[in-house]
Amino acid sequence: MSAYNLYKALARRTGVVDPRRVDRALGILMSSKVDLKKYEYGSSKEYCGCPDCRFRRILCKHSIAIAILEDVDAEMERFRNAD
Ligand SMILES: [Zn+2]
Repeated sequence: MSAYNLYKALARRTGVVDPRRVDRALGILMSSKVDLKKYEYGSSKEYCGCPDCRFRRILCKHSIAIAILEDVDAEMERFRNAD
């Protein structure tokens, strides 16, 4: 999960990303109830319709979660193609 590590490092070193939101993003991914592709805010890696993104203009937990999920999907694809 290099995206998770990247966001944690950004949070630690620059303060650009809120470390609590990185952890909340992981919480979203660990919840089996959430399908991020159909998330109510129309979230993507670059944009989200939630209040954090629209009004506070910060990188939100939904966008971070999608970035981490895409990273995991890419890792799984590389693993499948390794044979
Ligand atoms: Zn959001």
